[in-house]
Amino acid sequence: MVAYLDHAATTPIRPEARRAMLALMSEPGFGNPSGAHSVARAARRAVEDAREVVAAALGAEPSQVVFTGGGTESDNLAVAGRSPRGHILCSAVEHDAVLESVRAAGGTTVGVNPEGQVDLDDLKRALGAEPAPAAAPPTPAAPPGSARGSAPTPASLVSVMTANNETGVVQPLDRVIGITRRKAPAALVHTDAVQAVNWLDPAAATAGADLVSISAHKFGGPQGVGALVVRNAADLDVTVHGGGQEAGRRSGTHNVAGIAGLAAALAVVQEDREALVKRVGDLRDRLADGLLASVPGAVETGRREDKVAGICHLCIPGVESEALVFLLDQAGVCASAGSACASGATQVSHVLRAMGVPEELARGALRLSLGWTTTEEDVDAALEAVPAAVARLRSSAAAVPAVRAPSPARSAR
Ligand code: PLP
Repeated sequence: MVAYLDHAATTPIRPEARRAMLALMSEPGFGNPSGAHSVARAARRAVEDAREVVAAALGAEPSQVVFTGGGTESDNLAVAGRSPRGHILCSAVEHDAVLESVRAAGGTTVGVNPEGQVDLDDLKRALGAEPAPAAAPPTPAAPPGSARGSAPTPASLVSVMTANNETGVVQPLDRVIGITRRKAPAALVHTDAVQAVNWLDPAAATAGADLVSISAHKFGGPQGVGALVVRNAADLDVTVHGGGQEAGRRSGTHNVAGIAGLAAALAVVQEDREALVKRVGDLRDRLADGLLASVPGAVETGRREDKVAGICHLCIPGVESEALVFLLDQAGVCASAGSACASGATQVSHVLRAMGVPEELARGALRLSLGWTTTEEDVDAALEAVPAAVARLRSSAAAVPAVRAPSPARSAR
């Protein structure tokens, strides 16, 4: 038996989602919703029913829900499709799906404090001075119609995630929205709520944001399907051209079964969330407290009270994350270094770097993430395996002094 503690990477599919998908993979649900006959109509009905579930959960209208091919695409659509165009700001701890989109568009990042929450003073500085009230007479320094202050280009989008995928830290989104509305009233606010849906009521947690991204496989739906909620009459430019599906905002034949699976999982989570947060939160606390007591030098990342219930993130001095995750896998515990890196390169997490975690600690990052299938036995397995793996790595490091050649690739990171 494997103790699966990597739910933040992907969580097992809920039976309700699997059933909904299987029904749509057989007749008559397999149709293309864009068609004009009865089979197409059945598929279209499934997509529209799913849209209503998402809209209700997110506090939006069905017409404001755009189905996408996952969380990454949803984040990309929000950033690349922003309208009007202008400067973009995002927090320095965003998932790469936001961070790389913002970089590609020439945007800038806003720092976070040592607890991992966005630095609101930095955000205020980045947004520049508030625009002059409409009725105020122009000052000599500010010609009529222009904004006072130092912001070089007015911001068109501010993107701050609801909860962080590595540390689990929840961001002060309502304050981010308040500051943005005051200082850059024309800017849209996007939030990546991909890691929040399991743990926080998504309508309340993202209230006031114009654009909200979710991804089904983080809350018991299938991989490769997500949504962007476009509230407050926000405009989106088309980034995926084609047949004009999703009211022209995202072309491409719908993933009907996936969309139905997303909605079925979301409906379950909406019902189950309160009990899930309590049960999993208790398990997470037992796990985190047990490891802090049994692994010398281990420190918890961020404040526990700021975090979603499912994430235990520790930094452990004297070990390398990759080696630790490898040993844990051998012991039957699926864990993560926190950030997956497609290239396989050993890199210190940009999230930990932004929080100012010293490199020696950040190199030993360990994320154990829990979810709806997590049991007491999973936690017991990790409580046994992690201290043993850390002790083994530390003793082998002491026996063979690590000689780290100054490699240009490593020092450049
Ligand atoms: N945003 C966050 C916060 C995530 O954790 C992830 C996945 O790890 C994504 C976006 C990307 O979502 P997807 O895997 O559906 O592309």
